[in-house]
Amino acid sequence: MTVQQRIETIRQRIRAALEQAGRKDEVTLVAVGKTHPPEVLLQAYRAGIRHFGENYLQEALAKQHALAHLDITWHFIGPIQANKTRAIASRFHWVHSVDRLKIARRLSEQRPDYLPPLNVCLQVNISGEDSKSGIYPEELPGLVEAVSALPRLKLRGLMAIPAPCEDLQTQREPFRRLRELLEKFADLGLDTLSMGMSADLEAAILEGATVVRVGSALFGPRRP
Ligand SMILES: *Cc1c(COP(=O)(O)O)cnc(C)c1O
Repeated sequence: MTVQQRIETIRQRIRAALEQAGRKDEVTLVAVGKTHPPEVLLQAYRAGIRHFGENYLQEALAKQHALAHLDITWHFIGPIQANKTRAIASRFHWVHSVDRLKIARRLSEQRPDYLPPLNVCLQVNISGEDSKSGIYPEELPGLVEAVSALPRLKLRGLMAIPAPCEDLQTQREPFRRLRELLEKFADLGLDTLSMGMSADLEAAILEGATVVRVGSALFGPRRP
């Protein structure tokens, strides 16, 4: 299958899930390009994809350079080291993986004046696994309050990567918990639930995902 055919398959899955959920709104498809070269991303762009997600800064910068002439919205979705915040703050439109105040402060301080505030989501450890990044739900209210006060960030919502599982009903549970967490902050106008990947996007959309981040189902398995 070509990238274009895979994109069409993903779009059909998204449409079917929206219909099943009875939703009239739309879902943003972020194409996750980790390990795949810029030529492959370009094929996705030609098939209409405008949102691209990257996990590793150096890899992302190289692709941004190669694709600089295109109208792309770049999403940073990987773990953030403090010494990478300056580049992330100036090269991306969105950051989905903020889970510490220290990182949020640095992104706000380092967001260049000539750009609009950086869109951010807070990553939540929704399955409670020690190994995964993300803030624990109990600590979320404090982080939401502190991040929404930072002048150069625009807090948009929440992101999570639940533990993988096969069955649709089980997949839905952590996504439902993330939606319920977001609803607690309704008065702040947060509008983004970044959840759902290749294997569980239907479950995420049924629970209200507004952004899905899809890698392997679009570009094939990760390259070594
Ligand atoms: C790799 C990755 C994805 C995409 O995962 P697939 O299972 O390949 O669709 C989404 N979000 C994050 C944070 C990732 O690291």
